[in-house]
Amino acid sequence: MRFGFHISISGGFKNVVKRAKERSCETIQLFSRNPRGWKYTKLDPEDIKTFRSELEGSGIEPVFVHMPYLPNLATGKKELFTNSVLSLKEELRRAEMIGAGYVVIHVGSRVGLDEETALEHVIKGINLALKGVKNRVMILLENTAGMGSEIGYRFEEIRRIIEKVTDPERIGVVLDTAHAYEAGYDLKNELDSVVEEFDRIIGLSRLKLLHLNDSKTKLGSRIDRHWHIGKGEIGKEGFRRIVNHKKLRHLPGIMETPRKNKKEDLMNMRMIRSLVE
Ligand code: FE
Ligand code: FE
Ligand code: ZN
Repeated sequence: MRFGFHISISGGFKNVVKRAKERSCETIQLFSRNPRGWKYTKLDPEDIKTFRSELEGSGIEPVFVHMPYLPNLATGKKELFTNSVLSLKEELRRAEMIGAGYVVIHVGSRVGLDEETALEHVIKGINLALKGVKNRVMILLENTAGMGSEIGYRFEEIRRIIEKVTDPERIGVVLDTAHAYEAGYDLKNELDSVVEEFDRIIGLSRLKLLHLNDSKTKLGSRIDRHWHIGKGEIGKEGFRRIVNHKKLRHLPGIMETPRKNKKEDLMNMRMIRSLVE
């Protein structure tokens, strides 16, 4: 498995490869802009050029872009939906400029809507974005923990979206281990059957990335709390099975573990690598 982290773009993309190397990343995920607002400022061509040339010689790949937090394709509010589609289109364009092959999105939050309608909105939003931006960047749907009104925590929901995407070549899945565990999939004790279920319902060929996060909360808690590898409910033995599983070990694995500073990243990287057999 190739391991990496979500890397900060603060101070510019020119700082990313250095940060990634300091953490011995073999793959990375990043935001293309500040994830806490709606504003897009243009990418600085010089900055991107520096990033891409450093990336090229680094051996770090693939690169994943994570969608900002506010867009929500599942919404019933017209304006929010429109803005969310615009954001997704913009992320697809920026991913291409950055040299990333994938945009990771959370399925969404259905506030006030039934699941059926919310899923219809997500499908419509994805299709609009893929139609609007014809490039080779792929959208990866991330399974959620099912916290509050989040949808997309069961494999069946993800399948129902994928089935209706008009450009099936451009849709894939990222499996977040913390979210799956919190949603009730017992990756710790029943990994084989979870992988088998994923394969039966979604298809393993759709799986392009693992988010490797331990969970601070219990199996089926529906509460999303990422924790340090080996120190949460999935635990060391759980992650040992995950990183060595014959149907998963070829995948890239990005950690989104808590951090105050670099020390915690180094600790998690050391831990995950020590589990590889
Ligand atoms: Fe995510
Ligand atoms: Fe995640
Ligand atoms: Zn999470």
